Amino acid sequence: MRERLEALCGEGLAAIAAAESRAQLAEIESSFLGRTGALTAQLKGLGKLEAAERPAIGKLANEIKQKLQQAFDAVGETLKQEELAADLASVGVDCSLPGPTVELGSVHPVMAIARELEDIFQSMGFVIWDGPELESEANNFDALNIPSDHPARESHDTIWMKSADEEPRRCLRTHTSPVQVRALREFGAPLRVIAPGRVFRQEAQDATHEHTFHQMEGLVVGKNIGVPHMLHAMNSMLEGVFKRKLETRLRPGFFPFVEPGFELDARCPFCKGGCKVCKGSTWIELMPGGLVHPNVLTAAGVDPNEYSGFAFGLGLSRMAMLRYGIHDIRYMCSGDLRFLKQFKA
Ligand SMILES: [Zn+2]
Repeated sequence: MRERLEALCGEGLAAIAAAESRAQLAEIESSFLGRTGALTAQLKGLGKLEAAERPAIGKLANEIKQKLQQAFDAVGETLKQEELAADLASVGVDCSLPGPTVELGSVHPVMAIARELEDIFQSMGFVIWDGPELESEANNFDALNIPSDHPARESHDTIWMKSADEEPRRCLRTHTSPVQVRALREFGAPLRVIAPGRVFRQEAQDATHEHTFHQMEGLVVGKNIGVPHMLHAMNSMLEGVFKRKLETRLRPGFFPFVEPGFELDARCPFCKGGCKVCKGSTWIELMPGGLVHPNVLTAAGVDPNEYSGFAFGLGLSRMAMLRYGIHDIRYMCSGDLRFLKQFKA
């Protein structure tokens, strides 16, 4: 019986090695290990052996069974891979080719600077608030103490909705300042809020003017808030962005929603004696700001006799241009990938 078993093992291994498909392999497996298979028949015959012979022959039979089973599994796996590759090749897929490259996007410079500023202002206790881009005339102008004869209301600045004759009139917001009013109405005083977002104006476009640009409005309202608080917040913000202290100065400026109003300039971070960015003056006009006009507080339901505050309008597009050395604002909305890909996330 030993010879018969060893002969079966040899036949089995040879048949397995010669198998050309998984179907063929399954047939061979059945003919050796199946219920009526040759090896199964031998195993069944073990009972008829002499008791002394049985353990050694039984052990050999099991070893052969295991050996054949392993060979079936190994060849089965190889045939499976081959058949899969053949299937894919028949439909024109080559698995050995590298996959398509997934290109990672980059963060837009305006978003990058906005996130940086949000972190800085949040560390100073500001909340971030948002408002609609389509705004009512009342919020965009009236509540901000911008009288109806103010030039900013003229159509060459403001993009009015087609239903301009209807009341109330609506426009694409020309600044993020209406969010001041919305936030004050929502939360009341005291309040520290920034509102980043898109604003729209009917501008002739050039290197520094674009119909769509980004601002970040800032507002602090509390008891006894004054100009020193504003300067401190602005200086901290600049130090956070440019990673060093920058000298700042205030010039008087007129904006209907603040009284007194200022233009805040910062010492040019790119030069010591004048450059293209500061047009040789060593100062960069950074943002308008000032103490919130009592009429604005009143319009938002806050008592100006109890509270005061400061507000500023930071040009995010302009900050991004300064931060990353971009010389033309029109790149910002161009969708030009050659420009955008320079700012990796
Ligand atoms: Zn300069």
